[in-house]
Parts: sequence; structure tokens; C-alpha cells
Amino acid sequence: MKDGVLDAYLEAGKIASRVLSRSLPLVRVGASFPGVVEEVETLVRKEGAGLAFPLNLSLNEAAAHDTASAGDDRTFAAGDVVKMDLGVHLDGYIADTAGTVDLGENGPLVRASQAALEKAISLVRPGISTGDLGGAIQGEIEALGFRPVANLTGHGLGQYEIHTPPTVPNVHLAGGAVLKEGMVFAIEPFATTGTGFVSDSPRVQIFQQVLDRPARLPAAKRILDQVRDRRGLPFARRWLSGEKIEITLSALVRSGHLHAYPVLRDVPGSLVSQAEHTVIVTGDGCIVTTR
Ligand code: MN
Ligand code: MN
Repeated sequence: MKDGVLDAYLEAGKIASRVLSRSLPLVRVGASFPGVVEEVETLVRKEGAGLAFPLNLSLNEAAAHDTASAGDDRTFAAGDVVKMDLGVHLDGYIADTAGTVDLGENGPLVRASQAALEKAISLVRPGISTGDLGGAIQGEIEALGFRPVANLTGHGLGQYEIHTPPTVPNVHLAGGAVLKEGMVFAIEPFATTGTGFVSDSPRVQIFQQVLDRPARLPAAKRILDQVRDRRGLPFARRWLSGEKIEITLSALVRSGHLHAYPVLRDVPGSLVSQAEHTVIVTGDGCIVTTR
């Protein structure tokens, strides 16, 4: 890895760590959901960094991919389990980190995902496989009485690329990728009181351009113009302005220009926690960029 690239990853990680630790305490009973989202995204910009994706704030059985919508009037309630997932980038080099705020009495659930993350980080070094990391995550979460979410994974990171190989499972899998020095990836265990499988909800607030080809309709062109500076990183519906946005986003998903990220949820009434750090594999271990 070139020095400049390493520096960008390390600095993005420091910013992400600082912003997340300042932001988790903003989640309090009665606080405004969109207010917290706006405040955190503003903190990232004030640090001189970019958002690698819209701030994700996902409640209770929702594991990931929720964020504020236009006109969102939600507030946090006593008992909520709130995942805050933050992505920061410098020159496209990404730091991806997350934590969970417990507004009820779910400390053990929150600690389960944290313990699994620490266990996995302690194992990272060249030669170990991602399947072994998944096994360690699963073992830790199950020992604490919860289930890992089997169909959510950690992922490699590249310049302006939020999901690259390797995939880092949260359950044991045979034949995962073997880690090599210089790999950059996020590890993100999810612990749940539910089934351990998430499915798409109808709510979609986050999209990503995946096809770099002009659109024909004027309304579609206007949206692609507004997201061009994302350079393929995800964006929020609320960042767009203009008319006929919903129908045009749907058309752009159908035409293959955009990928939609529906809110992912376990079964109703369940609670999900998440912890996440970004690591760079070194000769004998790893650097955690987001500590
Ligand atoms: Mn994340
Ligand atoms: Mn991630």
C-alpha cells in the first residue's frame, strides 16, 4: 500500500472514530431522528471529510440501511435499540464503523456484538480465513445467548468502493477468502433476539449508482446529475431535490442505473445490535483504523 493511501485510510478512520464517539450520545429518548442524522453528517463535513454513505440509523428489529427521510418526524423512545453506522472517506478511502445505543435494558445484546467484533479483530492476520472470523463471531454471540445475523456480512473496501471482496461472514463458513497483508475490510457482527435472518422492508431511502450510462428521461438525467459527485458511493433520497423523485428513482432501479438498499429487518418485536470497525491487515495482525 502506498504511503498516501495508508495515510488517507488512517486519517479517515480517526475522523470516523471521533465523530461516532461524539454522536452516539446524541441518541436520547425524545431526540429527533432526522435531527441526529443532520448533526452527525454535519460533523463529518466540518472535519473536512466526505460521507462514504448516508448516516444509517436503524431501530430495534431494523438492522441496517435506515436513515432520515424527507418530512421524517420520528423521535427515539425508551426501550429503543439504535444502530448508528457511519462511513467517512478522504479521497475515496473509506472508514466504516458502527455502534449501538441502548435506550432500554439490552446491555447484554449490545455487548454481544461488541465482544464478537473484538474476538474477530484479535484473530486477523495473514493466513487466517474469513470463514474462521465468521466462526469466532458466531461462537461469541451464541455463547452470550443471542443469534448472529447470518445474511449480513462485513466487506472489503476500495477507493470509492464500499463493497469489495472479501466478504466477512458472521457465521462459520467453510472455504472463505484467506487474508493477506494490505487487505482493507470492515468487520460488522450483528447480534439479534430474532431469527438471525434479515429481509427487505418496503422502506427504501438509500440508493447507489451502479451503471455509468446516460439516462434518457429528463427527470432521470436530473437525478444522475445530482449524484455524479458521489462517484458511485451511496446517497440518500433526502439529498435530492426536484419533482417526481420517487417514480424516477424506481425507473432508474429498473433500468439498472441504481441499486436500492431497502431497510433490512429481522422479525417484528426482535432487537438487533451491531458493532463495526475497519481494519488493515499487517504482517502479523492488523491496524484498526476506526478505534
Ligand atoms: Mn457500516
Ligand atoms: Mn460496513
